[in-house]
Amino acid sequence: MTVHSFCSPDFKAEPYWWDDTPRPELPWQPLPDDTDVLVIGSGYTGLHCALQTASAGRSTTVIDAEDAGWGCSSRNGGQISGEIKPGYAELRRRYGHDAALALVQEARAALEWLGEFVASNGIECEYRQCGRFLAAHNPRQFRQLVARARQQTPGLEQPLRIVERRDQANEIDSDYYHGGLVVEHHCGLDPARYHRGLLRLVEESGTRVVTRCAALGIQRYGDVFRVETSRGTIRARDIVVATNGYTGTVTPWQRRRIIPIGSYMLATEPMEAARAERLMPADRVYSDTRRIVVYFRRSPDGRRVLFGGRVSVFESDPVRSLPALRRELLRIFPQLEDVRISHSWMGFVGYTFDTLPHLGMHDGIHYAMGYCGSGICLASYFGNRLGLQLLGKAGATSAFNQPKFQTRPLYSGKPWFLATAVRYYQLLDRLI
Ligand SMILES: Cc1cc2nc3c(=O)[nH]c(=O)nc-3n(C[C@H](O)[C@H](O)[C@H](O)COP(=O)(O)OP(=O)(O)OC[C@H]3O[C@@H](n4cnc5c(N)ncnc54)[C@H](O)[C@@H]3O)c2cc1C
Repeated sequence: MTVHSFCSPDFKAEPYWWDDTPRPELPWQPLPDDTDVLVIGSGYTGLHCALQTASAGRSTTVIDAEDAGWGCSSRNGGQISGEIKPGYAELRRRYGHDAALALVQEARAALEWLGEFVASNGIECEYRQCGRFLAAHNPRQFRQLVARARQQTPGLEQPLRIVERRDQANEIDSDYYHGGLVVEHHCGLDPARYHRGLLRLVEESGTRVVTRCAALGIQRYGDVFRVETSRGTIRARDIVVATNGYTGTVTPWQRRRIIPIGSYMLATEPMEAARAERLMPADRVYSDTRRIVVYFRRSPDGRRVLFGGRVSVFESDPVRSLPALRRELLRIFPQLEDVRISHSWMGFVGYTFDTLPHLGMHDGIHYAMGYCGSGICLASYFGNRLGLQLLGKAGATSAFNQPKFQTRPLYSGKPWFLATAVRYYQLLDRLI
């Protein structure tokens, strides 16, 4: 593997988070013959679901094709919003006022729910209500942010603070932006430490977590499922699909509804704390108004920049995608030209055709997925909801059970249209 001249000697093509929280080495477990609930996928969705079913006394087995939490749940940007992609106006156009309000309110309540979950379970994961600086990439977008702050929908008001360009140095040391908006209640955490704490709770609940065990085929015999895995066969009364951006051919109905999109991240080598602090003095999570998303923050120790974006469509080698990602970093922070890159990694987020997450059941198989890149809060919350729904708990329904989980003709899980869509959005980002 050729590493670039701007990489540090100890460069790693894996998540920065794994330095402190390596993938857990779980004791070897045989795959049981039977289980009440079989959860496929050991990220936030799968673990939160398992926590509910096991705590209610159902024998629960979680399997993952890789190590526990290997997917997005240990490699994300650690930015938490509780926002869904479509805004209230778009949702009202689609589903009417009441449903639109319910969807936005439920997603936002999920953010509060997650904060309480982390605190009440004592999970040490650098969870912080640091606020977000949402930066405007041009004057027009700044005017739209101002309008958004001033004309909030009744019932959906949030504490938002407009920051003019002349004042933005308090938030960020960059001339690239034209002002922005501070969203005070957004949060940050260390995603791998959060996953590790959650995994500990799940193990304590009696759930069996079997890693390096890929589901290969599912057959249904009346009320029972028989699942072929790379480590043998298991029978289950209930099956939960929690594979999100890694949803494969074993669940073709879900695969036809999920659009996997690569998201790419880098970490700089550590710099002097004062230098890193000057870049982002408010120490928030940061993103901007472009449709081709970038997101960044300082590392929890305050000495590195962690920077992410959608700089490629299908590239799965984070060394090859790194130069394009570093160009984006330097566009915003040209003063980092001399700072080397120590880590580069990527993962596949799960998008949907209506840009909403979905949960429910199809052909007797439960699923929750499609967080469109905002899954720390939503995957956790929907995993929990799904577990409660599976148990038939009163009050466990969600506004997100309602919208139809759409696919498109001829779509089988390989998004051939993505490159064209990305070019179109890049053009829009340059023009408006
Ligand atoms: C680079 C990057 C940055 C991100 N940044 C943010 C952010 O800042 N904020 C935010 O909210 N969200 C972010 N996300 C998205 C967020 O991390 C995800 O939405 C969330 O982790 C999804 O959790 P999950 O449990 O549904 O899926 P995952 O954590 O992806 O887990 C799915 C698991 O399923 C397993 N699997 C798949 N197929 C099979 C099979 N056949 N058999 C067994 N196991 C299987 C996989 O191995 C994988 O471990 C980011 C994602 C990436 C990649």
